[in-house]
Amino acid sequence: MSDTNDIKQLFNQHVVPSYGRFDLVLVRGAGSHVWDAEGRRYLDFATGIAVCSLGHAHPEITEALVEQSRQLVHVSNLYYNEPQGRLAEALVRHAGSGKVFFCNSGAEANEGLYKLARQFGHEEGRFEILTAHNSFHGRTLAGIAATGQEKVKQGFAPAVTGFRHVPYNDLEAMRAAISPATVAILVEAIQGESGVQPASVDYLLGLRRLCDEHKLLLLLDEVQCGHFRTGAYFGFQRLLEGVPGAAAFQPDGISMAKSLGGGFPIGAFWARAPYADLLSPGKHATTFGGTPLGCAVALRILAVIERDKLADNARHMGEFLKSELLKLAAQHPHVIKTVRGFGMLIGIELCEGIAAFAGSTKPASVQMVERLHAHGLLTVPAGARVVRFLPALNLRKEDAIEGLRILETAVATLA
Ligand SMILES: *Cc1c(COP(=O)(O)O)cnc(C)c1O
Repeated sequence: MSDTNDIKQLFNQHVVPSYGRFDLVLVRGAGSHVWDAEGRRYLDFATGIAVCSLGHAHPEITEALVEQSRQLVHVSNLYYNEPQGRLAEALVRHAGSGKVFFCNSGAEANEGLYKLARQFGHEEGRFEILTAHNSFHGRTLAGIAATGQEKVKQGFAPAVTGFRHVPYNDLEAMRAAISPATVAILVEAIQGESGVQPASVDYLLGLRRLCDEHKLLLLLDEVQCGHFRTGAYFGFQRLLEGVPGAAAFQPDGISMAKSLGGGFPIGAFWARAPYADLLSPGKHATTFGGTPLGCAVALRILAVIERDKLADNARHMGEFLKSELLKLAAQHPHVIKTVRGFGMLIGIELCEGIAAFAGSTKPASVQMVERLHAHGLLTVPAGARVVRFLPALNLRKEDAIEGLRILETAVATLA
């Protein structure tokens, strides 16, 4: 086995340097833990950025991969295959009456929604999609055009046309932005990359009304907050739980990826009936979309989540983590400003001006994540001052407690 420096050397010489990587070489995982090349063990609250929904090396994912790969890995979408049909059926059960298209990533799932929206508006010459400030929708050319953050666009002009950004959670700004060319609104139910910012109930319900009034498609990006992460299948379902009059709320399109394959790359979008049928034969395609292997893995993950009641686990572990984090914030009001989120999607916002971070130009979020690495915990920075906890849906109580202890230790050294 090569050591850490050898592996970093390989990257320096041969891998495009587009990522600011942390100084860790990871070699194996089990459950909610991973090990680096030096044999150090880490509790994993990053889970590959909300991907490894059942943790690492889950025996049933291994079994599904092995079983399906013995039978049929890939055939292309020139033919039918059973796992794709079954997975679409399962996703429709969660999303509502409509149909599913399979792809390979979150950016590609959103691309499908942009094309769906353009098809929808084509005959009337409408094409414009409104999105929110601080949103994140992926790194393809249309993805960075849709994303409401300048930093992802810099140096890649000219931008794909047809996207405009307005402040998030501001219904009047959205209403004012609608033009005769507007065809759809795309938002995250909970903004992930910019620091775990949930949409308000009034905003979601108001967007639905706006879209109905102006004949627009309401598109939700559930790539990060979907797949039971919040305790409900979709983030928007969690936000609208128990809200009077919200039971009938439905978007017109939803993008998914990250947790869907638990680490096996698979993305999808759902489109409400009858819009799904706008993408008739020849209108959209991808070679790897909905392979028997990817779909068999995703189906097994859904079965495990259902059997082991992991949606409830995510909800309850999330409530436990959040209440403990709020106590920690109360003890250290000069370190932790707020705690936001639901279930296994929690953002801890750090205070401005933490003295221990003044000596470096790196954002506080990144410096905090590095300190947590040193204490044996993996988390993900979001924006300049938020640290994200994105544990596996099957997180055990003892692991939640270990994570809290590590955070407490790191926070105490900053106070
Ligand atoms: C990660 C993410 C994407 C992009 O997904 P990729 O698989 O990296 O293309 C899109 N939208 C949201 C909300 C995300 O969190």
